[in-house]
Amino acid sequence: MHTNLFIAGRYCEPARGDYFADIEPATEVELASVANSSEEDIDRAVAAARKAADEGPWPRMSAADRARVLNRMADALERRARELGTLEARDVGKPVSECVNHDIARAARNLRFFASAIETWTQEACASEAKFLGKDLKLVNLTARAPLGVGAIIIPWNSPLMLATWNLGPCLAAGNTCVLKPSELAPLSCIALGEIATEAGLPEGALNIVPGLAQTGAALVAHPGVDGIAFTGGVATGRKVIAAASATLKRVSLELGGKSPNLVFADADLKSAAAGVARSIFRSQGQSCVAGSRLLIDRRVADDFLPLLLNEVQKLRIGDPLDPKTDFGPLISAAHRERVDSFVKQALAAGAELLTGGAPPETMRHGFYYLPTILDRVSDNDPAVREEIFGPVLTVERFEDEAHAIQLANIGRYGLAAYLWTRDLGRALRVAAKLKTGMVWVNSFFLRDLRTPFGGARESGLGRQGGRYSLEFWTEPKLVCLTYEEQQ
Ligand code: NAD
Repeated sequence: MHTNLFIAGRYCEPARGDYFADIEPATEVELASVANSSEEDIDRAVAAARKAADEGPWPRMSAADRARVLNRMADALERRARELGTLEARDVGKPVSECVNHDIARAARNLRFFASAIETWTQEACASEAKFLGKDLKLVNLTARAPLGVGAIIIPWNSPLMLATWNLGPCLAAGNTCVLKPSELAPLSCIALGEIATEAGLPEGALNIVPGLAQTGAALVAHPGVDGIAFTGGVATGRKVIAAASATLKRVSLELGGKSPNLVFADADLKSAAAGVARSIFRSQGQSCVAGSRLLIDRRVADDFLPLLLNEVQKLRIGDPLDPKTDFGPLISAAHRERVDSFVKQALAAGAELLTGGAPPETMRHGFYYLPTILDRVSDNDPAVREEIFGPVLTVERFEDEAHAIQLANIGRYGLAAYLWTRDLGRALRVAAKLKTGMVWVNSFFLRDLRTPFGGARESGLGRQGGRYSLEFWTEPKLVCLTYEEQQ
């Protein structure tokens, strides 16, 4: 497979003729040769997006017409779900059932949701009074919203189409044009969005796609022709993005990493909590920003709970991501597997107890596989507890009471999500209020209503996505103050 950039409605070769190898995690073999976009390519892509923003039809179309195009893109994603889900399973290593039934389905839903959201978005207006030049005036204050202009959307590798559409949906719905930079580790399904957009009738230049390495992303965020950046990725890269964006004061949204705790209280339904905790950490091999990678368990029920959890782990079918029965595939790369393993080794050397996993499975001859791993009795200073591993590793800490659970949950620098397992509603609300996270799920994992704010507190991000939060990000509010005299 040989893939190119997508600029001004056409696939084209990179200016410098440079390509890089995209490796399939389950086979360790090159899956595609992918264009590496250089600064010249970024110039071309941003110029195409700028032209489409300043002169093209997209921002000038009615919201209803834009919604129709987004819905046609969603139709194509649904029609091609099996093909795109299979491509994504090969590129990312996630089980094909998860790619088709969750990620691609959600990608289509993202576009449909924002198509509907833009049509039903109500602008604010408020009435007030003031005196001006000796007259009593009535004021009608309208908040008009214009598209921001050219958006840069940069995404990681773990859920390419889901994350691309989660950002493209509101960006395009609000009348912006954009340049999408997929991850170098899994760019293929995003590159296919070019043909999907063209077939759906998206005007040329409204969507441009620039695959490439880190330098491609750096060139895009620094480009003076970009008005807003929606970045999803790691904290360290997020810092670089915001620093580069500061030179031209671009608007920036950051969706970054997490180290999200599962708090299991003694009154919880332990069996369903065990299934929920296992799902929260081992889905996508733990390569999820909202992975519930820390288990905080009430000391009194730990001995009952841990066997239930281990039982859930045993049920996971590890194997070829293309087998529909597989629950658990390989990690994204050899380097990532080494990094995951180094956290495990370091924790074990510091005295942690290995309950399961801790190595690649002996049954898989190829692929960057690593067993679902649980580390008990880790110190709360251990890097495995403090840092985002972004792999299938769960650490276990015991708490004495509610206050201790909250104190443990709030350690560290992340603040994306938390999961509470309890049947006590008062406790759920009390603890949720004290957790320093952007999101809290009670007795469930990552159920999404797309209207609600998604995002992290502390170093897990800046801003929120979802519903009106995304539409507000992608538009420039403008006050228009109208006045009239009440007395003629
Ligand atoms: P990463 O930060 O290494 O890369 C993300 C993207 O940024 C890639 O496309 C990469 O090429 C690009 N990039 C690299 N350097 C850049 C620079 N200097 N300027 C601009 N772009 C640059 O992250 P990753 O390893 O691809 O993804 C894993 C991370 O993403 C994890 O931390 C995970 O938690 C996070 N993530 C967050 C969310 C969320 O919604 N909060 C969702 C998914 C993943």
